[in-house]
Amino acid sequence: MNNYQAPLRDMRFVIHELVGSSPICALPAYADCDAGLIDAVLEEAGRFAGDILSPLNPVGDRDGARWQTGADGKGEVRTAAGFADAYRHFAEGGWMALPCPPEFDGQGLPRLLAVAVSEMWKSANLSFSHVVTLTHGAIEALLIAGSDAMKATWLPKLVSGEWTGTMNITEPQAGSDLAAINCKAVPQADGSYRISGQKIFITYGDHDMAANIVHLVLARTPDAPPGVKGLSLFIVPKFILDADGKQGEHNDVYCTSIEHKLGVHGSPTTTLVHGDHGGSTGYLIGELGRGLEIMFVMMNSARLSVGTEGLGVAQRAWQLASEYAKERVQGTDVTQKGGKSVAIVRHPDVRRMLMTQRAHTEAIRALAYSVAALQDIAHQSDDAEARAAAHRRVELLTPVLKGWSTESAVELTSLAIQVFGGMGFVEETGISQYMRDARITPIYEGTTAIQAADLAGRKLTRDRGAVLATLLADMRADQAALAGAGDANLTDIATRLAAGLDDLHAASETLITRMGSNPAAALVVAEPFLKLAGTVIGGWLMAKAAKVAHDAIAAGSSDPFYREKLASAQFYASHILPKSAGLRITVESDNSLLLGLPDEAF
Ligand SMILES: Cc1cc2nc3c(=O)[nH]c(=O)nc-3n(C[C@H](O)[C@H](O)[C@H](O)COP(=O)(O)OP(=O)(O)OC[C@H]3O[C@@H](n4cnc5c(N)ncnc54)[C@H](O)[C@@H]3O)c2cc1C
Repeated sequence: MNNYQAPLRDMRFVIHELVGSSPICALPAYADCDAGLIDAVLEEAGRFAGDILSPLNPVGDRDGARWQTGADGKGEVRTAAGFADAYRHFAEGGWMALPCPPEFDGQGLPRLLAVAVSEMWKSANLSFSHVVTLTHGAIEALLIAGSDAMKATWLPKLVSGEWTGTMNITEPQAGSDLAAINCKAVPQADGSYRISGQKIFITYGDHDMAANIVHLVLARTPDAPPGVKGLSLFIVPKFILDADGKQGEHNDVYCTSIEHKLGVHGSPTTTLVHGDHGGSTGYLIGELGRGLEIMFVMMNSARLSVGTEGLGVAQRAWQLASEYAKERVQGTDVTQKGGKSVAIVRHPDVRRMLMTQRAHTEAIRALAYSVAALQDIAHQSDDAEARAAAHRRVELLTPVLKGWSTESAVELTSLAIQVFGGMGFVEETGISQYMRDARITPIYEGTTAIQAADLAGRKLTRDRGAVLATLLADMRADQAALAGAGDANLTDIATRLAAGLDDLHAASETLITRMGSNPAAALVVAEPFLKLAGTVIGGWLMAKAAKVAHDAIAAGSSDPFYREKLASAQFYASHILPKSAGLRITVESDNSLLLGLPDEAF
């Protein structure tokens, strides 16, 4: 298996030509950034991902992280051989700091660039990338809600990567239902809190890659109200800092075991016990009772990051399948009677599978990078109305990206195995790791059902579809431009996009009405609606890509990339986008019989 190679050409296309790096680099915060810098960073990140992280991916899968009893008699985690070294190079190379603010020693580069770099880490080694995702999530939460003193204490070392972050939400009885969290936080005379309770499934809750771990823990104070309103958020460091800010004694938080899993073996999924030896010391972030609100900052950042995981894993699986299809010789060319044996890439059905992977992955990339650019505008524009509009669109698109990208990654990695035939099912070729790794992505950070309920119940209903309506208007304007371009290929794509937009609009009206009158009838079809939204929005972005490619060819470009992009956009329009019609039928269907069945029927 060759090492991962970053798809730099498509990344540059999406960043510069489709989404547009110029308006992002024109934002005051990114004055030092330009297209040249973006391309240089992409190349360097691609080298790191390909040379350092990619060779470790099968090692992490095979050997996994290990739990052991440490010198102090307590549990500790050792990551797979090479992970700690790679992490040291990662932090020393400044990669953790890339999207972080300069006032805390970050590089302050746009999210539009950071998302592409993060795609590379996820493609090359999903297990390794988790530590980056969680650390960035902790940084975002502290930036939003930490006091100045807290920021000064914790942020510089998180930004440099010297310390890493975690998200401590899940407990045995509290998974999707955060109201059930019952970890305790008791106030102490010195202003700190005594934290006690068990957290499960905590990613990188213990490891040997960094000097300290900054746990962000959701817990409940003794007199807090029940439900999510009673949750507060605390920093609980693995090692407590002394008065000079130096790392002191081990806090009373220990890893008692790690999970044995279907995939992401290199990423330790830990059980953490807080306070079995007197109580771990925690520090309140923000105000009491606002824990979930702050944690949502971290979760939204992580949801977009997990959406990018779907993209990264799907991209790498496509890369491996396309390499294999050019090597494996089997059968003859259907277009030549009595012809010689050919590589399977000549077979029309293998081409269909490869192009399904490619076109779908490109559409997800276009969506992920578009959302990143919207985040840049939402955070950095000096126009308040532009900031607010971008923020509203990011909120709408976050569950779509997370749910659609990760569900697609499961299908696309499975398709990659199909291209390998029997060799895909055996472990030797390595392709099966991607399907196993992809399988967690629609589950953590809120399952697809939770994303779909967020989309249908909050994002769509709270403004009766107003934010979606502005997006639909933009998509219809682009569709009209495509239809009027006077090119048969573009007209064909425009016709199919128009049908998809009608499906999305009609299905959203149905869903909004049902959310008001019969929420169960709406929620039973919320997941198909989320997929419909992703499919059509992806179709819109691929149609825009087709127009950019068409214009480049018309202007005389002989770059084969543009012809390939036209082919993948046309394929998306004819093979993937039409699924919106079936999904619309499902969203509009009557499910009263299903909902009326007794539990015993299942
Ligand atoms: C590898 C891994 C890493 C993880 N990392 C972390 C981490 O770092 N930090 C952390 O806090 N947690 C972490 N988790 C936990 C993860 O976020 C939860 O597993 C996830 O949120 C789902 O919760 P659950 O497993 O309890 O499933 P459940 O909540 O029991 O869900 C089971 C099923 O019921 C459905 N369901 C539940 N409630 C509803 C509802 N209201 N409406 C519709 N359907 C519903 C779900 O969609 C799902 O299909 C991790 C988990 C894994 C496996």
